[in-house]
Amino acid sequence: MLFVRDRLFFGSITDAAVVLQNDGGEISHVLSLLSSASISFFSDWRSDVSIPTQEVRKVFAREAGHGSAKSSLSPEKLIYALELAGPGFKLLRMAVPLRDTEEENLLDYLDACLDFIDQGRKEGAILVHCFAGVSRSAAIITAYLMRTEQRSQEDALESLRQCHEHVCPNDGFLEQLKLFEEMGFKVDTSSSLYKRFRLKVLGHSYKLGEKLDSSIFEADPGLPAEAGSSSDSAEGSQPKTVYRCKKCRRIVALHENVVGHTPGEGEACFEWHKRKSGNPFKRFDEVECSSIFIEPLRWMTTVEAGALEGKLSCIHCDARLGYFNWSGIQCSCGSWITPAFQLHKSKVDISTPRSSRLHIKQ
Ligand SMILES: [Zn+2]
Ligand SMILES: [Zn+2]
Repeated sequence: MLFVRDRLFFGSITDAAVVLQNDGGEISHVLSLLSSASISFFSDWRSDVSIPTQEVRKVFAREAGHGSAKSSLSPEKLIYALELAGPGFKLLRMAVPLRDTEEENLLDYLDACLDFIDQGRKEGAILVHCFAGVSRSAAIITAYLMRTEQRSQEDALESLRQCHEHVCPNDGFLEQLKLFEEMGFKVDTSSSLYKRFRLKVLGHSYKLGEKLDSSIFEADPGLPAEAGSSSDSAEGSQPKTVYRCKKCRRIVALHENVVGHTPGEGEACFEWHKRKSGNPFKRFDEVECSSIFIEPLRWMTTVEAGALEGKLSCIHCDARLGYFNWSGIQCSCGSWITPAFQLHKSKVDISTPRSSRLHIKQ
């Protein structure tokens, strides 16, 4: 077990087993990041390890969501299990099911993990552990140092390496921690950065052949808001950009559905590994994009049918609005958007706040 900060330790499953089987010493909280949240992971790992537990609660993605923005996790996905563990049930263990792969979604678990670390340090001391104590626990502690000490991803990781030189979060986790930094040390599900990440995760599940359920679609902005579902429209006293079908004027997207991209930036910006910092393509900034790219919305019935690519047509008048392709579409500016849900600007009317006010006066 390794010291990181006052009342904060990290380690491997061996360290955790020692703590959980004994009374824990100064440790009062354990954050387990293993591929299964179940305590039986320990006895499967080593048959002589037996840890008594009492379940406190389980929290699933549908309960953990913030605001109306969606995470990339399906609603049935377990975010964490909380239990009392060890002799006398004196330890509070939060178990988060997390695999150590580059495609694993770390961001959607971060808030719960970091808040639990805060709680552990306030009420006692906490051990954050994964299997080897190299990637998952290091990624979570790096995020924690970023948030509490306002450090960049590189700086936080370097600081952790000074405690233990072998820490090495996988590249997918490092990429997501960079996003966490760019979002201001929080997971802002309404930001364009998060929306791009969410699409990337959805694209990966599509590639794996996982079933796409209706939970991947955002609400149809052309329909009246579902009761209690969209706090965005309630606070939307300031008019925002609205996209309508040019032919029948039905609303097909709102400003907050747009997933932005930097004109002229290559596919690199959507790759986990090749992403460069800064934009070396600044000279293309003046290029006008002929398309906008949006999140999957509930009116996109052709997407729901499960095809790899297809037309996007207006659900009211059937006019062709654009195209979708899970493998990506290139914008006229040169950027690749992957996966892509595209509306041709020539097929939609774009009303900005100013012009919509003009419409009302007419
Ligand atoms: Zn573009
Ligand atoms: Zn239409």
